[in-house]
Amino acid sequence: MTERIYYTDPTCTEFDATVRSSSAADGRCVVVLDRTAFYPTSGGQPYDTGSLGGTDVVDVVDLEDGTVGHVVTAPIGEGARVHGRVDWARRFDHMQQHTGQHILSAAFDRLHRARTVGFHLGAVLSTLDLDKVLGAEALAAAESEANRIVWEDRPVSIRFATPEEAASMTFRKEPTRSGPLRVIEVEDFDMSACGGTHVARAGQVGVIAVRSWEKFRGGMRLEFVCGARALREFRVLRDAVAGSLRFLSVAPQELPSAIEGAQGENKDLRRTIRDLGERLAAHEAAALVRRARQVGAARVVVDALDGWDQPGLKALAAAAASQPGVVAALLSAGEPAVVVVARASDVNLDAAEVLRALVQQFGGKGGGKPDLAQGGGLAGARAEMTAALAQIIESRLRPAP
Ligand SMILES: [Zn+2]
Repeated sequence: MTERIYYTDPTCTEFDATVRSSSAADGRCVVVLDRTAFYPTSGGQPYDTGSLGGTDVVDVVDLEDGTVGHVVTAPIGEGARVHGRVDWARRFDHMQQHTGQHILSAAFDRLHRARTVGFHLGAVLSTLDLDKVLGAEALAAAESEANRIVWEDRPVSIRFATPEEAASMTFRKEPTRSGPLRVIEVEDFDMSACGGTHVARAGQVGVIAVRSWEKFRGGMRLEFVCGARALREFRVLRDAVAGSLRFLSVAPQELPSAIEGAQGENKDLRRTIRDLGERLAAHEAAALVRRARQVGAARVVVDALDGWDQPGLKALAAAAASQPGVVAALLSAGEPAVVVVARASDVNLDAAEVLRALVQQFGGKGGGKPDLAQGGGLAGARAEMTAALAQIIESRLRPAP
């Protein structure tokens, strides 16, 4: 067994100890000491980090024989005397979150008979799982109650109880382990059997804030932050809100409705732009058709146009080809060029075939259907491409059947 200093003194960050065993497995050096202030991952609380002698402690684990294994970056010989140093910032953060969890869980239990069935202390956020679903008001009431206990700065005590003593105690959650228990009590509010590290007074938790919640396994999962994490989270949200307000010129509480309004306006504008685009295409198409060249029974227009993207060219060609006898072949002005070929339903021409022939000469790729085909990535001089396009269309036009 390793003597666990943190059981009785969670604020101890420096200690001396003797190495009981030292082993290397899978490239990890694991050191066991006669006593330690390092907390091993357990009960939802992550391990401590720090240094041992001249090496870094990068993980701490509970071993099966009741000892604590320190995973270190360099081996230390058995029997050596070492000085240990625990990273206090990390430990204190864990103490704030863990004690906050006890108080928050007790508040849910006392106010709503909602039991805590899971807890995980993460690197940024902690989660708490409840066995029932509560509304926003009920959540806020428990959150307020938990903070009242924090601000009353109630003592948080550690004591050890024999099974007989434990039998007469009222725990929030009935302990499952046998033998002596380590009991953590938030004065007149919560009594829990727990092996974790906690602050000595509730006031050290600072503040407890529920960040979000969702339904989870018949109950709900809450994300919460305590102490310094709550301040960090506040700063993140403050900056995000302030950044949004600069764009929208509204009060913070009006932000959701302002975003909803802006989205609705955006949707309306898109619809208007689409309608105007269609009208513009129809108008331009009529102008194109007026310039069409008569080839047999067909009216053929081949042109390279500035300021139209592929969807625009497609709309324009389709609008032109909606008139009887029209073949419209349109190129974009830029290079590589995009091309769209459309023909009216009464014209005997395979647009996809026209596109294939053009791609053979100028590269790129494309395809489509007999009445509408499109392609892109064509390289060549504008005049050459339009001339080739006109020639391909003329040579493939057949009299209407
Ligand atoms: Zn605890």
